[in-house]
Amino acid sequence: MEKTNTAGKSEKRKRARYVLNVEKLNHLNEEERARLKKVTQEYAFRANDYYLSLIDWDDPKDPIRKLVIPQESELSEWGELDASNEGAITVRKGVQHKYGSTVLLLVNEVCGAFCRYCFRKRLFMNGNDEVQYDLEEGFQYIQDNPQVNNVLLTGGDPLILQTPKLAKILQRLRAIEHVRIIRIGSKMPAFNPYRFLNDQTLIDLFREYSLPDRRIYLMCHYDHPRELTEQSREAIRRVIDAGVICVNQNPILRGISDNPKVMAQLWNELSFMGVGQYYVFQGRPTVGNEPYEIPIVEAYQKVEQAKKLCSGLGKRVKYCMSHESGKIEIIGVDHRHIYLKYHRAKHAADEQRLLVCHRDDKAHWLDQLKPVDGGANKYYQVDQSDRHYLN
Ligand code: SF4
Repeated sequence: MEKTNTAGKSEKRKRARYVLNVEKLNHLNEEERARLKKVTQEYAFRANDYYLSLIDWDDPKDPIRKLVIPQESELSEWGELDASNEGAITVRKGVQHKYGSTVLLLVNEVCGAFCRYCFRKRLFMNGNDEVQYDLEEGFQYIQDNPQVNNVLLTGGDPLILQTPKLAKILQRLRAIEHVRIIRIGSKMPAFNPYRFLNDQTLIDLFREYSLPDRRIYLMCHYDHPRELTEQSREAIRRVIDAGVICVNQNPILRGISDNPKVMAQLWNELSFMGVGQYYVFQGRPTVGNEPYEIPIVEAYQKVEQAKKLCSGLGKRVKYCMSHESGKIEIIGVDHRHIYLKYHRAKHAADEQRLLVCHRDDKAHWLDQLKPVDGGANKYYQVDQSDRHYLN
């Protein structure tokens, strides 16, 4: 069994201190720091001493290290800045609407640390202007769209916001009658559990606004069981105790989250804590992410191997690709074909659509797959005029 990190169990640290410069990484030598500095001039670096303490610095392949410490291979020319074309579903500044019932609000552009593989790393780049701090336009958009029954706060990490600011957002959303679920996408339970342990007003806020039939969901982002430290488990205990539903979602990444035994350990441990594994995502072909990419077939096989090691509650997971056209579940692979199905679709014509493609063991994204009925993959290329939402 993968070793369980107990970092912090004996530590008495009360808060995480941010590390914003690779030159401060004392575990690396001067030459390494200079090389990585070049990477961070392209893709921002951010960590904190709590999360860095989880790294086994003697292991150059340590998964936590890979998650947060830059690699020079990020600089290879590969991928796109906005691989799922979120720009096309941005209906107001900082407001995304792709599926009828769900609206995303991008409420900030900072996280507890920066995952090297982030598909929204464009938000952390100089000159980016996608995030909206004044959310009134977003609230009005949601108010005007009664089919929206759930709103996802994202970014960046919404829980970086000060609690009073978060309180105003929750209060405003709760005032909109048709918004039943408020989701908060956050890696703070992994990156900085002190956010929950040190701020009782945050827990009280969750308790106030997560109601029996109008819940708050915390969409956690754990990638590896070593992130489940005592502090992190305690953070989740407090959040669940406040009436929040916790689930987990994370991408499958080379060297970080692609070991079936470790994946199963994560899913099982989370299920013991009351946190269901919701999605495993295929990595989006985002700039800088080549070192983390895994082909679809390999990833599918690893997810299936991991499932064999889980109870039913541990493996309530969907392995999906967040494609421009929708959330597509990879439901099967045989010696000739890859079977996929739209779980959520941007266009109504694709809703629940089954796709059968020729097996390609190198393909890592839908656009590289060839459908069995010949020609280019045009399943999702529906005219925009077709766009209408289903609840
Ligand atoms: S926590 Fe999420 S938004 Fe922040 S860097 Fe990681 S993947 Fe990106």
